[in-house]
Amino acid sequence: MADLDGPYDVPCGSDGDDAAAADNTDQEAATSDADLRLPPLPPPLKTRNLEFCCGATTILTCVFIAVGVAAAVIFAPSSNLSFTAKIVCAVLVGVECLVAVISLLVIGFGDPGIVKRTPATINPIPKEVAERLRAGEGLDGLQNFVDESRGVYCVKCCVWRPRNAVHCTTCRRCCRDHDHHCGFYGRCIAKKNLTYFFAVGPAGWAAIVTCIVFAALALAPPIR
Ligand SMILES: [Zn+2]
Ligand SMILES: [Zn+2]
Repeated sequence: MADLDGPYDVPCGSDGDDAAAADNTDQEAATSDADLRLPPLPPPLKTRNLEFCCGATTILTCVFIAVGVAAAVIFAPSSNLSFTAKIVCAVLVGVECLVAVISLLVIGFGDPGIVKRTPATINPIPKEVAERLRAGEGLDGLQNFVDESRGVYCVKCCVWRPRNAVHCTTCRRCCRDHDHHCGFYGRCIAKKNLTYFFAVGPAGWAAIVTCIVFAALALAPPIR
């Protein structure tokens, strides 16, 4: 059985470009081998967490500012807002902040569509890969294998991935329905988290704009 959760410090696969994947359709695929152990998956690049810190800090700063200003606007004795306006301010800022935080959590900790190692995705192991693994050799220098029915065999992840999947060189995983790797949130953006990606920024900024508008109304002299 393949080692799915091995240590992360063992190099795996080549650095070749996926675009240069060889069309090895006629390559004979090896059948599953119970004694065959796949190399452990490498960890994501460390820059990925720095990227996420950048995005998370920006969004959480927006949220804290919005909540702080909204609280001041609502509870300050000198506020000129009516009770109804205070309720509207609280609901709007609350919803916008909630959307921003939930979207950030989904992007940061959710699964964008990573192609995991399962019996269905690792088998059949291409003959050339199997021979190298049996010989205890690395997979450096091998190009991805393309098969009309199975898709693309990624020699870095050792999985068969669908054609709409892409190997992210930062996350070091293949991801289905890949759109792009976001350098601001440090995560792959794909079909599963694309909605949250489009929601997180606008929700954070909308919360800021909302609290500024209500702060201006609260400071304005009451209409007589
Ligand atoms: Zn891959
Ligand atoms: Zn990525």
